[in-house]
Amino acid sequence: MQDSFDIIVIGAGHAGIEAALASARRGANTALFTIKLEAIGRMSCNPSIGGPAKGHLAREIDALGGEMARVADLSGIHFRMLNRSKGPAVWAPRAQNDRALYSQLMREAVENTANLQLIEANIASLIVDEGSVKGCVSQIGREYYAPKVIIAGGTFLKGKIHIGATTHSGGRSGEPASDELSDSLSDLGLKVLRFKTGTPPRIDLNSLDYSDLEAQAGDDDPRGFSYYRNIEVRNQAQCYITRTTELTHDIIKRHIHLSALYSGIIQGIGPRYCPSIEDKIVKFPDRESHQIFIEPEGLNTHEGYVNGISTSLPAQVQEEIVHSIPGLETARIMRYAYAIEYDYVDPSELKPLWSAKASPACI
Ligand SMILES: Cc1cc2nc3c(=O)[nH]c(=O)nc-3n(C[C@H](O)[C@H](O)[C@H](O)COP(=O)(O)OP(=O)(O)OC[C@H]3O[C@@H](n4cnc5c(N)ncnc54)[C@H](O)[C@@H]3O)c2cc1C
Repeated sequence: MQDSFDIIVIGAGHAGIEAALASARRGANTALFTIKLEAIGRMSCNPSIGGPAKGHLAREIDALGGEMARVADLSGIHFRMLNRSKGPAVWAPRAQNDRALYSQLMREAVENTANLQLIEANIASLIVDEGSVKGCVSQIGREYYAPKVIIAGGTFLKGKIHIGATTHSGGRSGEPASDELSDSLSDLGLKVLRFKTGTPPRIDLNSLDYSDLEAQAGDDDPRGFSYYRNIEVRNQAQCYITRTTELTHDIIKRHIHLSALYSGIIQGIGPRYCPSIEDKIVKFPDRESHQIFIEPEGLNTHEGYVNGISTSLPAQVQEEIVHSIPGLETARIMRYAYAIEYDYVDPSELKPLWSAKASPACI
């Protein structure tokens, strides 16, 4: 088995896949590592691409020859250009995608690229000699060598999943965390900090009262993300809109001390774009209601994403919250919401061309 490469990429999420494809397509002999092969390109939270700022990013990746826009167009089931009431500079393309198809198409793209070897392994540490990276070692002690290593570990580094007072190790729902790699990075002198993010519950779309939901169709003239691949995109599914109620807010206020976020269990900082429903209620006490979007997870499943109620409250409270929302009174929860904390390397540890300050050859 080959164990020497030009480039090693650790992580086969959105970032690692693009890095590995770009590297292999330029002729570099590349290894791409992931903890679980079935989860390549898995959409961690909402199966959607784009939206404000992120839609531009997907199109920039397309312009650079990347895969995200193509796969988003092929797996898109509901397309909308957001912010259309404002000027074109802030228009934001967004697609709801079929989660399973997105992942499958990404895996096909990776597996059909020359110079690219896909390997399932949980990488535990880097091999560094005299300040230069030489490769990495997997949890089972297998060594792989390359003069450059790209780490795109997402939410997996020392990932901890929180639901109410319960905490367990995990990189994402149902997937193990990468517990050793971040120690290896701190040992190299890199500053490792902690972030947190969260996801809402998923519900059975067959258990809703659609008479209380407002249908939200895709655009009449759906536009995709890829400019030069000429993919004709199609709306194939409907989303729905509802709102939180006075009762929802009351339930959250009464149980706020049970939220992992507000009980002090979670120490990491969250991104501003994706506040939990607890945060929205606490930080915007004057708002009587918050909009919620019910979005399908794919064409071949009844699972739906409840966009707007990301939470770390206990499962029983999540049931109460969901059932307080018009149209969702009899909704059956298929997966509970959770918050996740994980390690990341402070971006100020990187030089302008993304090599790490602590180790010149490690990018
Ligand atoms: C619950 C939740 C909610 C989120 N909400 C949002 C949101 O609303 N908006 C948003 O933009 N982002 C959100 N995210 C973040 C989401 O993870 C990123 O948007 C996106 O997935 C990042 O892509 P990535 O390639 O950096 O990492 P990921 O998609 O997380 O992929 C990481 C990859 O690295 C691999 N990996 C990690 N460590 C190792 C190791 N040691 N060895 C081998 N392989 C390894 C994993 O197996 C995986 O393939 C959320 C994530 C989660 C879990």
